Amino acid sequence: MTNYADFHRRSIEDREGFWGEQARLIDWHRAPAQVCDQSRPPFVRWFAGGETNLCHNAVDRHLAARADQNALIFVSTETDTERVYSYRELHAEVQRMAAIYRSLGVKKGDRVLIYMPMIPEACFAMLAAVRIGAIHSVVFGGFASHSLASRIDDAQPTLIVSADAGMRGGKVVPYKPLLDEAISLSSHKPARVVMVDRGLAGFARVEGRDVDHAALRAQHLDTAVPCEWVDATHPSYILYTSGTTGKPKGVQRDTGGYAVALAASMKHIYMGEPGETYFSTSDIGWVVGHSYIIYGPLINGMATIMYEGLPIRPDAGIWWSLVEKYKVTVMFSAPTAVRVLKKQDPAYLKKHDLSSLKALFLAGEPLDEPTATWIAEALQRPIVDNYWQTETGWPILAICNGVQAAPSKFGSPGKAVYGYDVQLIDEGSGEPITEPHRKGVVAVAGPLPPGCLQTVWGDDRRFVSTYWSSIPGRQMYSTFDWGVKDEDGYFYILGRTDDVINVAGHRLGTREIEESISSHPAVAEVAVVGVADALKGQVAMAFVVVKDASRLSSPDALRQLETEVLRVVDEQLGAVARPARVHVVATLPKTRSGKVLRRAIQAVCEGRDAGDLTTMEDPAALAQIGAIVR
Ligand code: AMP
Repeated sequence: MTNYADFHRRSIEDREGFWGEQARLIDWHRAPAQVCDQSRPPFVRWFAGGETNLCHNAVDRHLAARADQNALIFVSTETDTERVYSYRELHAEVQRMAAIYRSLGVKKGDRVLIYMPMIPEACFAMLAAVRIGAIHSVVFGGFASHSLASRIDDAQPTLIVSADAGMRGGKVVPYKPLLDEAISLSSHKPARVVMVDRGLAGFARVEGRDVDHAALRAQHLDTAVPCEWVDATHPSYILYTSGTTGKPKGVQRDTGGYAVALAASMKHIYMGEPGETYFSTSDIGWVVGHSYIIYGPLINGMATIMYEGLPIRPDAGIWWSLVEKYKVTVMFSAPTAVRVLKKQDPAYLKKHDLSSLKALFLAGEPLDEPTATWIAEALQRPIVDNYWQTETGWPILAICNGVQAAPSKFGSPGKAVYGYDVQLIDEGSGEPITEPHRKGVVAVAGPLPPGCLQTVWGDDRRFVSTYWSSIPGRQMYSTFDWGVKDEDGYFYILGRTDDVINVAGHRLGTREIEESISSHPAVAEVAVVGVADALKGQVAMAFVVVKDASRLSSPDALRQLETEVLRVVDEQLGAVARPARVHVVATLPKTRSGKVLRRAIQAVCEGRDAGDLTTMEDPAALAQIGAIVR
């Protein structure tokens, strides 16, 4: 058994040797000429000169050995559908979708935006894009028209793939009207929209633009579309994520580095074996969905479960029934989902044979001890916390049990993962912290390992200024998280350093929500903060100052305003971004130079000490917020 400390050290000190070996986990059409080209830091070109294809590695290469094994298991408890695709069938469906793209003029390097519920066609749409060298950009179905429009304008897709509707908790959630609205708001107009009609919600077709997926598929049942070999550094996808400013950032991922990173992570972290079943409960709209519903398990020759529905419908046993039925060996979820289950009868867990399950991985938000203990006891299986970001595409911190088994510590996502030279940086001095238990910014010394973001789509300057400039004079990637490390090298994450909040594992920018609320005509000023919540980890709380307070004298008028503000957020950003409450206040607490004291508001909302307030203009403003939330 390898010693993990040595394994990690080698991954940093001998990058070429280490990653050159990991690169053998995937198929190459042409072997890389160089493992790690760092000639233009902080940019790094992994496996430069190599040629490969993500879809080939996820699908085609498995046809020889496992054509009839399960590849994609689709389960919808919303539409009562269950459909299993073998690798052979997945290969056929992906080629059909790729043929549709070709027939509509999509070329290598073109963007295909995917705005879809959790249905198999979304998986086909992603794989078909990378198959022909097109770049996909999946937008989470919970985002509404404004969010979607800004992503359309940034990615400038040639084509959009969408569906009439999704379903959630038994209710139809129409997608098409939001898409139409987004396209009317965006300056960029995609030439074509491929519509998957699930028959859930009628929709209007835009003549000349909208085409029907089923009709086109029928024309291409047997069209072969070979994989287009692309450079290892060719972008495979763009995935938007929130930051401090209102404009979402397009995280751009490469091809070869990503495939290698995922293949290696399946071996060293998740420990899934080809032929087994992987079940990640995330959504394809998030990074976990990209890496561990679609690409990771498939690259590894596993079957992957794509689940549309809630964890407690028809009852809280649904996930465990799938574990039993499909003999799931590796499961991946988020702490919020476990907290939802924890409120249900634990008997649901006992009802099913979970003997196939090797471990449950949790990520996306801090894992609190009661949640971890409850699920560990209920499952009697290892619970492995892991910490990463949309930007990195795979874990930064975890326990790499596939390298050397090690205990987990409650509250810690584990140690620095191989490939990442993780350091804590003192905020004041910008120097690395060497002693244990001292808080610093979690940073990674460049270069980032394979699989991480190449740049911000279309904006190299923003990539450098956002991620690489917070620690002057050093090639340090900032995660924007606070952390501490103990004497054994286990890290603990203490929350974001910026205005990003984490609601039920979903990353949201408070500035985006503020911008949306400001568009309500009655609102003069607004501050949105993340407040600790027992179920969701954090919720957004909005404090607004209205233009004309005299019109809000009755409780009814206040309630009405709150409803309207929430509707604006729902319509523009989507229900995921909806604040838990909107409170009207007389003024916002600000510094004398006019900066809103968001941290102080957050502290007061959480019943904590608001800290040093000597620069505050008007203490009454904070006192009013204190009184409201109490
Ligand atoms: P996202 O890009 O949506 O995956 O969100 C990434 C952010 O979620 C990180 O920067 C952290 O703030 C938080 N996060 C992710 N995983 C964990 C974890 N295991 N423990 C604590 N925080 C986490």
